[in-house]
Amino acid sequence: AAEITVIGGGLAGCEAAWQAAQRGVPVTLLEMKPARYSPAHHLEGLAELVCSNSLRGESVENAVGLLKEELRRLGSLFMMAADATRVPAGGALAVDRQLFSAYVTEKIEAHPRIRVIRGEVTDIPPDGTVVIASGPLTSDLLAGEIGRLTGDYLYFYDAIAPIVTADSLDMGKVFRASRYGKGEGDDYLNSPLDEAEYRAFVAALNEGEKVPAREFEKVVHFEGCMPVEELAARGLDTLRFGPMKPVGLTDPRTGAEPHAVVQLRREDLAGTMYNLVGFQTKLTWPEQRRIFQMLPGLENAEFVRLGSMHRNTFINAPALLLPTFQLRSDPRILFAGQITGVEGYVESAGSGFLAGLNAARLAAGEELTVPPPATALGALVRHITNAEPRHFQPMNVNYGLFPDLPGRVKKKEKRGRLAERALAELMEWMKTL
Ligand code: FAD
Repeated sequence: AAEITVIGGGLAGCEAAWQAAQRGVPVTLLEMKPARYSPAHHLEGLAELVCSNSLRGESVENAVGLLKEELRRLGSLFMMAADATRVPAGGALAVDRQLFSAYVTEKIEAHPRIRVIRGEVTDIPPDGTVVIASGPLTSDLLAGEIGRLTGDYLYFYDAIAPIVTADSLDMGKVFRASRYGKGEGDDYLNSPLDEAEYRAFVAALNEGEKVPAREFEKVVHFEGCMPVEELAARGLDTLRFGPMKPVGLTDPRTGAEPHAVVQLRREDLAGTMYNLVGFQTKLTWPEQRRIFQMLPGLENAEFVRLGSMHRNTFINAPALLLPTFQLRSDPRILFAGQITGVEGYVESAGSGFLAGLNAARLAAGEELTVPPPATALGALVRHITNAEPRHFQPMNVNYGLFPDLPGRVKKKEKRGRLAERALAELMEWMKTL
């Protein structure tokens, strides 16, 4: 019978294995622990939560809450484990990390169609359906093999700049313009700073609290993706000659070049989100909110993603993957989890669900399927496979990724309506599964 192989028994790999096995397909799940541990993994069990024990917000007012509800309705193992091992955490869904891993391990090991083999995978099986779910800390030898499939489109670090929603910006203060008027006029928004504002901003960056790098993350940064606070620390004018350079940008209100500028680049086609160009950072999250809200026009900015810099193995999914998570150049191979460029525990499990579903269909010779774009799962797939490859960066699920609602909707009602629409479309899609 057709079989599938899943590489990596983390959040995505376990979900993929479970979904395929539940659909009648035999699965071999390959996990390197306990023979070998990544620098962040410590438990012997499968599905280890390596850092926080929180799966983030519960309410569907939050896109990750909606994603969890979708997965729950779809019968995800990740959500069964989460609901069985939850601990009180206010509006968030948090779990007991040990019990969570133990729950998933037991379910996987007891499944009659899943065989778990422990040991590091160093070669990708040459035939059969394979799901690669080896995570953000994929071992070096396997990363080398993946690199042979992906060429230059495999990365080992992410350098993430914050993203804000367009409608939270003060358009009376930021202005639209591309440097020297090149490209589309509305590709960029610019926050202009005068000298006093610039000095205060640089001082705040220097004083802001930073997240310490872990031992395995201490790397020499490339000049092109230095944390913004490190540039600030080099001297008062370093930023003004780097990512905050004002040349070629005229503020229409003064007719002059500002002292310094923060450029915001459009993040999505609809222009609902903008990222702060060159603002990858290791500042803590509260500090990012406080300091970036000092920028003119960003006083009330709503952040859909905050900046970070991590060790993170991931591929350029929009250049490499089909919406089914298959590798375009070799469609018997699927990717799942953080390595596809989704960011977060729940997102990783969600992509594992879809990869497992499609791997099972592929192995059984059935037609593959993609969730509707108005669902949280579908919105993630769309980001992963439709984003602009040149600027692709990992992303958490958020409502900025969803298609707009038809007609005018009050801001207060928007998220509830998006969630309602998502769950209705999910239920329709489930009938086809
Ligand atoms: P993993 O859960 O890491 O699973 C991959 C599995 O593959 C592991 O068990 C690993 O041992 C195995 N493996 C690797 N190489 C091989 C090989 N060659 N052969 C066999 N097996 C192999 N997200 C959050 O939402 N909240 C957080 O707090 C958070 N903290 C993070 C902290 C760190 C340090 C990192 C690196 C990531 C963090 N993430 C966090 C991001 C992400 O959600 C998690 O990493 C998540 O576990 C990703 O799921 P995954 O299934 O893709 O990978």
